[in-house]
Amino acid sequence: MQVLILGAGQLARMMSLAGAPLNIQVMAYDVGSQTVVHPLTLQRYDFSLAQAIEGVDVITAEFEHIPHDVLDVCGASGKFLPTTDAIKAGGDRRLEKALLDRAGVANAKYHIINTRADLDAAIAHVGLPMVLKSALGGYDGKGQWRLKERSQADAIWEEMAAFLTETPEQAIVAEEFVPFDREVSLIGVRNRQGEVRVYPITENVHVDGVLNLSTAIVDAQAIQQQADEMFTAVANALNYVGVLAIEFFDVGGKLLVNEIAPRVHNSGHWTQQGAETCQFENHLRAVCDLPLGSTALLRPTAMINILGEDQIPASVVATAGTHVHWYGKEKRAGRKMGHINVCANTPAELENQLKALATQLDALAFPALPR
Ligand code: ATP
Ligand code: MG
Repeated sequence: MQVLILGAGQLARMMSLAGAPLNIQVMAYDVGSQTVVHPLTLQRYDFSLAQAIEGVDVITAEFEHIPHDVLDVCGASGKFLPTTDAIKAGGDRRLEKALLDRAGVANAKYHIINTRADLDAAIAHVGLPMVLKSALGGYDGKGQWRLKERSQADAIWEEMAAFLTETPEQAIVAEEFVPFDREVSLIGVRNRQGEVRVYPITENVHVDGVLNLSTAIVDAQAIQQQADEMFTAVANALNYVGVLAIEFFDVGGKLLVNEIAPRVHNSGHWTQQGAETCQFENHLRAVCDLPLGSTALLRPTAMINILGEDQIPASVVATAGTHVHWYGKEKRAGRKMGHINVCANTPAELENQLKALATQLDALAFPALPR
């Protein structure tokens, strides 16, 4: 089986690694350089996107910010999964919000802003404080503003107006500020027959809008059930095939959807060591029409992102239950360079493992670790 992935980052890399034992060969399309590359070495193949589309059995994506002309060509081949609409919804907060409403799942109150008058209407509708997010192109907390008081509205509008002028199809989605207790996400997979399997819910710690630490939660029945139902509603609304991630705010035990990612997700990397079948393999199984793998938890597991560092102490690699995954990327401040999966026999032991790792890792580079 040959699969073409739109996007040539670490997610394509990890799908390629997970596909190899199943004889699934992966190639990646680097949207920036518009070339087809090997997902591990990033070496260019000497054929075009059109030739790749023609040659493979299945096409899928590792991220949602893909030019629509590329998506449309892939969609027209009849080989693209999950669906081009799902990718478009993941890449445009206007479509995403409309999808959440259509699926009937709880999400933060919002208002779409194109003009100064819309900003005033947003303040009236969603209230203050509010979070303002670019409709297109946002990730890792980029393209966001916070508006706390009405007196800041003029200044923030000036910034937003400049931003909106840069890209005509851009807009801002204003959202009520949600005073959440914690953030959680659910990774799940749906196959072509509509069968859904979900992983245990994951608790996520973001620092400055970037994911730092994810921990699989073993004893969260009430929110797991809410998340499962919302997952199924969204996946069914999209007639989705593959792995889908949903990020939630947990407010006093009630979940609100923050956003969706129509792909494998950073908060699901722990499944490589903590679940019977990892998210990367299950995505490939779903899109290649193979039976889905079990999503059962093997053992309490957490994931630590390695941001902006290309070295970690050998003692971390040497620690039992610890698995390091590098992405082979050039070092840049704040860049996702790799991650560490940490496994233990019990949640209490996992907490101790994380504390022990914190003593070996720089506090500035790994701020979310318990110390
Ligand atoms: P990602 O990399 O997950 O795609 P993103 O840039 O798309 O990130 P969001 O997930 O929407 O952005 O927001 C980033 C973080 O900002 C959230 O994880 C959360 O911590 C905070 N945040 C976003 N929206 C709200 C909100 N309405 N109320 C409170 N906090 C919020
Ligand atoms: Mg997010």
